[in-house]
Amino acid sequence: MGRCKYCGKWAVLSRRKHKECKANFWMAYKEIMYVTQQSVLERIAPLMVEKKVMEIASDGRIPMELMKHAIAKGFVGALSLLLKDHVLSGEEEEALIGFMDFFVLTEKDADAQCRGFWGFS
Ligand SMILES: [Zn+2]
Repeated sequence: MGRCKYCGKWAVLSRRKHKECKANFWMAYKEIMYVTQQSVLERIAPLMVEKKVMEIASDGRIPMELMKHAIAKGFVGALSLLLKDHVLSGEEEEALIGFMDFFVLTEKDADAQCRGFWGFS
């Protein structure tokens, strides 16, 4: 018996997590990734993206640092899609840099910033 690592409440039957909490968490995490990726591709203003992902994160009880991690992954996904079919225009590059600046993303964010968390699961 221990506290669920997702919701912080006691988990009696399972060890340190509720199945539903884990499912909710991953659904929200993937949604943040997806929303970010689409938003970057559609060049939606970072402020709007932030509002949306904050909502998803709060529904899925996603901590801030993992929310950022999901955003970084979505960003990298969008970037690789953009680079696949053509060379970036100056305008696109500017938008991408603006997005990174807004969310204070670095390349490191896209890696295993939260490795400890994943290892725990
Ligand atoms: Zn729970």
